[in-house]
Amino acid sequence: MSKYWNELTKKIEPYVAGEQPKDKKYIKLNTNENPYPPSPKVLKAISDANNSDLRLYPDPDCDKLRETVANYYDLNKNQVFVGNGSDEVLAFSFLTFFSSDKEIVYPDISYSFYPVYAGLYGLKARLSALKEDFSIDVEDFLKENGGVVIPNPNAPTGKYLDIKAIKRILEFNNENVVIIDEAYVDFGGESVVGLIKDYPNLLVIQTLSKSRALAGMRIGLALGREELIDGLNRIKNSFNSYTSDRIAQVAAVAAFEDDEYFKICSNKIIKTREKVTKRLTEIGFKVIPSKANFIFASHSKMLAKDIFIKLREKGVLVRYFNKPKIDNYLRISIGSKEEMDTFLEKVEEII
Ligand SMILES: *Cc1c(COP(=O)(O)O)cnc(C)c1O
Repeated sequence: MSKYWNELTKKIEPYVAGEQPKDKKYIKLNTNENPYPPSPKVLKAISDANNSDLRLYPDPDCDKLRETVANYYDLNKNQVFVGNGSDEVLAFSFLTFFSSDKEIVYPDISYSFYPVYAGLYGLKARLSALKEDFSIDVEDFLKENGGVVIPNPNAPTGKYLDIKAIKRILEFNNENVVIIDEAYVDFGGESVVGLIKDYPNLLVIQTLSKSRALAGMRIGLALGREELIDGLNRIKNSFNSYTSDRIAQVAAVAAFEDDEYFKICSNKIIKTREKVTKRLTEIGFKVIPSKANFIFASHSKMLAKDIFIKLREKGVLVRYFNKPKIDNYLRISIGSKEEMDTFLEKVEEII
């Protein structure tokens, strides 16, 4: 605390990111990064962009990237917004579409950045309690509100909400923006991008950090009707016109162009997830069925916190949330086959 801080700075509760340890080499299963490298074509595009053009500002409109994404999803370029990671896109979206006079709604167990943005902007939020089985209670989103945010699949549970339920939420909330955060949709879920043509209030947010293995490049997207994207651009251009750099833009284009590589890696992760789920279940874990690149698991005999500490000692990092309702669960990112074999070996030693 400093006397030089203003009231807002004193009051806000910033997000705490998953640990990126520097003390030794861990098997990192704590921040849902992709275990596979970006496509070789992405790496080549990045080297090619490493040239004297870096003295020039990047394209503030990210035209090439927006065209590429628009083609990929059968949208038009003006329905695509690019940001510096989807965290930034979310931050801009909260600022563009939500106001302090009406409560916004998101699940009580969900991505922990949402309450941070709500706090930063002084928004009121209503938390919708997940059901016993960790599924989203759709009825809670069919009540008067000032905006909706739902990650699908949800984090950290990995639970997927079907498109029919999302349609009901979109229909009820036709006066408000409904944000569907699809950070993990490529691991077995189905995107709602196709609903944009029918629902002017739908904003789909995606990231290249997870399924496209570019967390280090910071590229996020918002997809929605042109009027929503125009609003986002008004906010972005009141902050910083160049949120996305030259290298990130070419990397993202190349990532969308190499669809085959992307599908191969995503399928490997899905297969490993199913194998790990089966093995953990056999040794006494309850594993929530996941459509993400992580699983959420709890053991019948041993506390999650103790397993977390012991795994860390053995060089494996997973995520533990010391929060009501989920403090006996571990969120385990799906690594490569080899990493997950080591993880299972260590878990079996501990249990
Ligand atoms: C990882 C994650 C993000 C942020 O991704 P970046 O694009 O790396 O900022 C957004 N939402 C959810 C639910 C996530 O898990």
